[in-house]
Amino acid sequence: MKLSRYFIPTVREVPSEAETASHRLMIRAGMMRKLAAGVYNLLPLGLRSIRKVENIVREEMNRAGAIEALLPSMVPAELWEETGRWSLYGKELLRIKDRHGHEFCYGPTHEEVMTDMVRREVKSYKQLPLALYQIQTKFRDEIRPRFGMMRAREFMMKDAYSFHTDEKSAEEGYEKMFRAYEHVFKRSGLKFRAVEADTGNIGGASSHEFMVLADTGEDLVVSCPVCDYASNVEKAEVVIPKHHAQETQTPAPEDVATPDSRTIEEVSAFLKRPADQFIKTLVYSVNGGKEHIAALVRGDGEVNEHKLKTLLAADVLEMATPEKVKELTGAGVGFAGPRGLKLKTIGDYSVKGMANAVSGANRDGCHTININEGRDFTVAQWADIRMVRYGDACPRCEKQKLEFHRGIEVGHIFRLGTKYSKAMKANYLDSNGKEQVMVMGTYGIGIGRIAAAAIEQSHDDNGIIWPWAIAPFQVVVLPLNISKEDIVAAANRIEEEMEQEGYEVLLDDRDERAGFKFNDADLLGIPIQIIVGDKGLKNGEVELKVRKTGERVNVKLEHLKDKVKEVASLLAAL
Ligand code: ATP
Ligand code: MG
Repeated sequence: MKLSRYFIPTVREVPSEAETASHRLMIRAGMMRKLAAGVYNLLPLGLRSIRKVENIVREEMNRAGAIEALLPSMVPAELWEETGRWSLYGKELLRIKDRHGHEFCYGPTHEEVMTDMVRREVKSYKQLPLALYQIQTKFRDEIRPRFGMMRAREFMMKDAYSFHTDEKSAEEGYEKMFRAYEHVFKRSGLKFRAVEADTGNIGGASSHEFMVLADTGEDLVVSCPVCDYASNVEKAEVVIPKHHAQETQTPAPEDVATPDSRTIEEVSAFLKRPADQFIKTLVYSVNGGKEHIAALVRGDGEVNEHKLKTLLAADVLEMATPEKVKELTGAGVGFAGPRGLKLKTIGDYSVKGMANAVSGANRDGCHTININEGRDFTVAQWADIRMVRYGDACPRCEKQKLEFHRGIEVGHIFRLGTKYSKAMKANYLDSNGKEQVMVMGTYGIGIGRIAAAAIEQSHDDNGIIWPWAIAPFQVVVLPLNISKEDIVAAANRIEEEMEQEGYEVLLDDRDERAGFKFNDADLLGIPIQIIVGDKGLKNGEVELKVRKTGERVNVKLEHLKDKVKEVASLLAAL
């Protein structure tokens, strides 16, 4: 491929909104351009890498026994109403009306559509298990689209869905997908880790996220350095405290004035008591205000709303409004406490057994001191609802402190149980002719996010360093002076020879200075550069540069094929 005939508009300057390396480099290397917030044109070079990612995903899905289909991106509202997600999904769901006034959404995920298709066609246990997937464009009206392909509004996803007769078969399907995901990310050249994950909007019994470890990741994950525990902080468990220090003196509770002090830090400074003697009381609205509850956590911790939401099996969990807090507790935000509170209360284990503690007094400008759990208040349920924090021990082995890393979520797999199949009546007849509900799994991969994550993990000041498997081209030929016929002729011969060897080759035939070509070649990140210059050619040599290591070697033309093969197999094995 001659660069002058191709379409790679590289740029030196990048828009200031590009905050991450992958976003900046994908624009600079002419891989993509913004059309609107979170909506991108994919240029030919970008598309080449994306197609490679897609093919790896496709091959691994096929290998795992999943079958490819393609569903529409426009989804009728009725299907989403069947599962209740039409009202629950919120503003990320782009809703559209057609000319007849029929409501649709632009699919952000396709559980409903796939379940609908399968319930119409699959009737017998003999047709199960069945796994179907598609590689298709999704739309999510993300509140903060950013980082380019990493968090776009329109993006390409591989989504797979599996249907089973029972939980055991569903678990086998999940494990097969887990292994397929490991292959996909390994083959894409990524350093990743599978972590336990919250089931969020999709719901279901259990799930894992595949995280690419990178400082710019939006997720925070914890892992144990000795055992194999790893989790998204949203899901991470904490060690249940065994006991509290026994207080010998337990005076009666007493209200004290704490004017203008609302936060734990303010009251702690005002009363000169450490944060771990406080009981933090937060009021939540459940399922859009259908119910309100109070959550308690020791003052040195934070409530983990994901864990609380899962515990309550709630579809929506939000902080109560200040007006509602006033109505339910009798005081403004910052002055709620468990003593005398007439609300269902969930206590974090860290609060159990606390004595001589401090909390809000349910009166404006007042806190209560000397509160004892059991004597002065009780809770409806004790549970682990605290956010993991630095210094916490591993909840599994309890031997070591957890490590914290930033991660980019490239894939997510869920065991759904019967959540969707029950709501949508996806039934089958078992071997006794009895009607049963299918058990499901759902499995997503962000195609563009893999490409962006690969760049995030592999780049330098000069540009992208593509992993071999997803590089848009594998070899770039750089003739340094195209006014010299012998140089052009040699470069053309090399291009031809390399193409015959099965490599994808780009030839920079532009009439530009050597430095300019070197910069662009480094920016594009093509793994092998072959430099054809005057001096070398006189000795029958070219220079081979490995983008990843920066190594340069002179190679005799007659040895070039072998040398490229050797370097290519080293790079492919990394
Ligand atoms: P996130 O927490 O990052 O928003 P999610 O949990 O909403 O992700 P899933 O619903 O599990 O994501 O979607 C499956 C995969 O699709 C994700 O693992 C990710 O790789 C990709 N993905 C999700 N949202 C986006 C987006 N806005 N832009 C690009 N890829 C995305
Ligand atoms: Mg999301």
